[in-house]
Amino acid sequence: MALDEIYDLSNLKNHTEELVFKIMEEELEKISDDDICKCEDCVLDMVCISLNMLQPRYRVSLMGAIYSTAQDGEFEDVVRKAVGEAIEKISLNRGHD
Ligand SMILES: [Zn+2]
Repeated sequence: MALDEIYDLSNLKNHTEELVFKIMEEELEKISDDDICKCEDCVLDMVCISLNMLQPRYRVSLMGAIYSTAQDGEFEDVVRKAVGEAIEKISLNRGHD
């Protein structure tokens, strides 16, 4: 029996992933569409690179909301730096023509 058939795994949330999505949106909005490619391939690559640079922060969503907010300011800076590096890397080396 598979774990996901016994338990509801959808309550597992990666807080890092949520922050990367939020900050990626903010950072991409600051950059003109003429300056970088914002197609799905490129943005997903940026998200992958960002997430691989960062430590995951899994929590169970029912209880974890309180626990994870404490260090958010500091961690947001770390995430923003990773997102910035990922955007730069992909915009200089996009995976398509
Ligand atoms: Zn692209």
